[in-house]
Amino acid sequence: MAAGTAAAAAASLRTDLFINGAWRPAASGERFPVVNPATEEVIAEVAAAAPQDIDDAVAAARACFEGDAWRGVSARKRGALLYRAADLLEQRADAMARLETLHNGKPLFESKIDVGMTVETLRYYAGWADKLTGSTLPVDGPFFTYTLREPTGVVAAIVPWNFPLNLASWKFAPALAAGCTVILKPASETPLTALAMAEIMQEAGFPPGAFNVLPGGGSSVGSALVKHAGVDKIAFTGSTAVGQQIMRDAAGTVKRVTLELGGKSPNIIFADADLKAAVRGAQTGIFYGKGEVCAAGSRLFVERKIHDQFMEKLIERTAKVRPGDPLDPKTRLGALVSEPQMKKVLGYIEKGSAEGARLVAGGKRAKVGEGKGYFVEPTVFDDVRNDMTIAREEIFGPVLATIAFDDVEDAVRQANDNPYGLAAAVGTRDIGKAHRVARRLAAGTVWINTYNNYDPAAAFGGCKMSGFGRELRTLPTGCRGIGRTCPDGRLVLYLVEFLRGGNRGVAWANSFAR
Ligand code: NDP
Repeated sequence: MAAGTAAAAAASLRTDLFINGAWRPAASGERFPVVNPATEEVIAEVAAAAPQDIDDAVAAARACFEGDAWRGVSARKRGALLYRAADLLEQRADAMARLETLHNGKPLFESKIDVGMTVETLRYYAGWADKLTGSTLPVDGPFFTYTLREPTGVVAAIVPWNFPLNLASWKFAPALAAGCTVILKPASETPLTALAMAEIMQEAGFPPGAFNVLPGGGSSVGSALVKHAGVDKIAFTGSTAVGQQIMRDAAGTVKRVTLELGGKSPNIIFADADLKAAVRGAQTGIFYGKGEVCAAGSRLFVERKIHDQFMEKLIERTAKVRPGDPLDPKTRLGALVSEPQMKKVLGYIEKGSAEGARLVAGGKRAKVGEGKGYFVEPTVFDDVRNDMTIAREEIFGPVLATIAFDDVEDAVRQANDNPYGLAAAVGTRDIGKAHRVARRLAAGTVWINTYNNYDPAAAFGGCKMSGFGRELRTLPTGCRGIGRTCPDGRLVLYLVEFLRGGNRGVAWANSFAR
């Protein structure tokens, strides 16, 4: 991409903090560079929130939460504000998608899907806002006993760089629908769409303090929000290591957390699968989002009987996937988000070969255009063992580890033999087998004859080291409360947490047919 294009796109960017409905530089004056990973150009210098800014944002979110400007807004009106934000985002979808591509490096084609899903998420939770009902409880005695769903309070949403806007909306849309207020801490690589979203929220009519954006470092701003006594809940998506740190840090103020963490998801292809569709699914599973997808199908299990035939087709198709300029609408594989991420991915590729896996496609940094940018070839390893590093650790790049298996028992045993439990997939024409295997997989989501489908109406979240709590579908982030009226009508609030994430998981069946 020409240097001027990025500069022009960046010219109208918001780069200050958004606190209490106003834009301002950091109290310290500090800024950090945001780089276009496809060109290595600095596209913006964004304010890095200082301790004073964090206190101010929490105070603004708290005052808004407790004040009439937000408390006095009816549930239906909260929904209307979210609908309005969705409409405004839809009107600016092209510009927002470009911006997402500029700081993340993902193909424009994918950014458009992300923005579309963000619009859907806003609308989905707009619809929930006035449907959060409590229930009456048939207790023993002369009591009228009922539950109320109350907003939790100030929610800090801490998000990663892989789906910057979309994942943020999984947190801020339900939180606002429930009547919480939000402080959004975007990842340092990708703060631009969060800031652009603040502009939309302001225009939609959210009162000052309802939605704040605080860019800045994870160990400074993120950590301070987690420890802050004025924050009631942390909704986090990111690495398992940081999720563990957040659990420890949140203990100090006993705040609730939901953790959407990493994954090493198995994609199991049985010999009776529709091979062409399964090859396509395996590719989508690992190369969509450059493999920087928490639910990426990074462990491909292929039944031994069809292994050679399957791999031949997969390698043939992989050779056609070429990294390219992410702004080109035809590109399907973009640049990795940063130089450290690219180096990490290339390091794993070296390790794969060193441990004896057979590299059958890709494996190197890719040259696109003038040779700038953090591109990596789509990479496939064969003859991987499930105990090799590339099969155990999350690589977060376009690197597939293929493992052969003998039968259902072998597939299930190997698939579950991993610390993570975010997603999984099963490919077979035998629908009974598909559902039996799906139930035995330790994963929050199991796709059947498909991969990488997401919808606001289907819950998402993991088990084991992939975290806990569910997003999408479930009750809006931050509902709580159980109330009881005594016979004289006084309301006593016990404030007991509602069950969230009680559903074991979601299965998506048979959308290869589409
Ligand atoms: P990180 O965990 O490093 O960062 C995620 C966010 O947390 C960033 O905003 C980061 O800020 C912030 N952060 C870092 N340290 C702290 C801290 N001590 N306290 C509070 N916040 C902190 O993850 P990545 O950004 O590298 O994202 C990739 C990871 O996210 C992968 O492991 C992936 O699996 C996971 N992920 C999980 C998903 C899921 O739904 N389960 C979805 C998408 C990604 P900063 O950027 O400034 O460091």
